[in-house]
Amino acid sequence: MTNEALQQWVEHISLTFFGRPFQHQATFNSRLTATGGRYFTRSHNIEISPHQLSTFGEEETEKIIKHELCHYHLHILKRGYRHRDADFKKLLAHVGGSRYCQSLPERSQRKTIPFRYKLLCGKCGMEYLRKRKLDPAKYACGKCRGKLNLIILDISAD
Ligand SMILES: [Zn+2]
Ligand SMILES: [Zn+2]
Repeated sequence: MTNEALQQWVEHISLTFFGRPFQHQATFNSRLTATGGRYFTRSHNIEISPHQLSTFGEEETEKIIKHELCHYHLHILKRGYRHRDADFKKLLAHVGGSRYCQSLPERSQRKTIPFRYKLLCGKCGMEYLRKRKLDPAKYACGKCRGKLNLIILDISAD
């Protein structure tokens, strides 16, 4: 599904279930893995995880869109738009949105852990990327059996 199709879908749900137009941007964000969707209070834009769609299908994704639209409309109307607010709970139940910004299964989350470590062979220069810290003394280069050095990568730039 394209971003344009998502935009149309969100606009349609907004008019059908909320009786109000969605006048901002809805886009897919493949880096969204811990939740199915996100609403930005500054830009009023909505992001939906494409993993949400591929894992749970259109019906569940529609519930996530409704959830994000509850944040959206209540925020714009200056009403209680947070999860704990009575306005939010009421509207969410009314439109049949998902209770939470649904978390994706563990498996999908694990895939996105970045490589934080590099094992560098001191003999042949072969590199091995690793997500978790390990003791280089316990391993040898798979190519030349040389000694490995552990290097911590700077991943702050994402
Ligand atoms: Zn939410
Ligand atoms: Zn080597």
